[in-house]
Amino acid sequence: MYKTVYLKKGKEESLGRFHPWIFSGAIHHIEGRPEEGDVVRVLSADGRFLAIGHVQIGSIAVRVLSFDDVVIDRNFWLQRLRAAYDVRNSIGVVNQPSNNTFRLVHGEGDGLPGLVVDVYDRTAVMQAHSVGMHVSRYELADALGEVLDGVVDNIYYKSETTLAYKASEDGGNGFLKGGLATASDIAVENGLRFHVDWLGGQKTGFFVDQRENRALLERYSYGRKVLNMFCYTGGFSFYAMRGGAELVHSVDSSSRAIDITRANVELNFPGDNRHEAFAEDAFKYLDRMGDQYDLIILDPPAFAKHKDALRNALMGYRKLNAKAFEKIRPGGILFTFSCSQVVTKDNFRTAVFTAAAMSGRRVRILHQLTQPADHPVSIYHPEGEYLKGLVLYVE
Ligand code: SAH
Repeated sequence: MYKTVYLKKGKEESLGRFHPWIFSGAIHHIEGRPEEGDVVRVLSADGRFLAIGHVQIGSIAVRVLSFDDVVIDRNFWLQRLRAAYDVRNSIGVVNQPSNNTFRLVHGEGDGLPGLVVDVYDRTAVMQAHSVGMHVSRYELADALGEVLDGVVDNIYYKSETTLAYKASEDGGNGFLKGGLATASDIAVENGLRFHVDWLGGQKTGFFVDQRENRALLERYSYGRKVLNMFCYTGGFSFYAMRGGAELVHSVDSSSRAIDITRANVELNFPGDNRHEAFAEDAFKYLDRMGDQYDLIILDPPAFAKHKDALRNALMGYRKLNAKAFEKIRPGGILFTFSCSQVVTKDNFRTAVFTAAAMSGRRVRILHQLTQPADHPVSIYHPEGEYLKGLVLYVE
């Protein structure tokens, strides 16, 4: 019943290593004219079954769901979602009093390429990054409801921005279970509270992936003057405040994000005047600011979304970090990140290294950071390790 993709001779090698992407250049021909998002079976040139997955337009032509010849139905989703839940349960992120926020599904890392699910208190926010997942959203939500029975009451689907074209045709955002009436918009992370903007916010509403890095920052904050650049809704800022920072300045170009940051200050530290927030462009702020900060966080959006943007992205990271090296106080600590999947750990380190060298400052690496365990990486898909961070001591 599924349409068939035939690979060119010799192009099955990466599938033998369980890599879940099939590039368009590997395809010989496709039988049956599938539409984007359809499930297809992938065969070698000599007709051997290799994999089953979602077909899509672009350089990644098929995202593999299974290397076994199975049927992709509600039961398939159920098994994968259960497996994802079991991992979260065994690493201790489910049902925690001081953390009600975790990532339940991390795409390829959970054998569900193109799907992300984050849980905020009693609401799961589901996001499709492939048309295939979008097409399956009702079946997925149904299976998700079963796996999270008793854990969440609401499932919100939020794919308008990740799938602009297809989703805008037939509804990319909305509750697939429950509704606003029963959904608290407050996430608790390590005891701190955050408004989560599912409806209009970025990603699924919050950046769950910085949880452990924020906790590390708290340990270095005492008595420091902190600049949280690209703060979004203020994540790092509140850890710095709790850690005893002398002042905390949060900067983001989105005024909506800054409004929520201010609301989050009131939620956690009402009336605390150590905090100030600025809706401003990062480069402008870095140019005009003084040299008072001795703890700076740089957590920019992905500078490169595609491989061809890599060079420019690396230049962006270099320039950004150079500004921080130029202005940070002696003895200062810099938390610097890249969340671009196409920028490797080495690429990023080279960009930061070049920026350091340009400034002439003496710089030591204190920590090398990544994403937390609820954002697992399939060992066969190293591209899944997208978050890179360095904590640097600047003399
Ligand atoms: N550190 C945040 C996540 C940052 S996401 C957290 O812990 O939650 C990246 C942020 O950069 C977004 O909020 C986006 O609005 C902001 N941004 C994008 N371009 C910017 C620019 N040129 N100047 C300042 N902020 C920018």
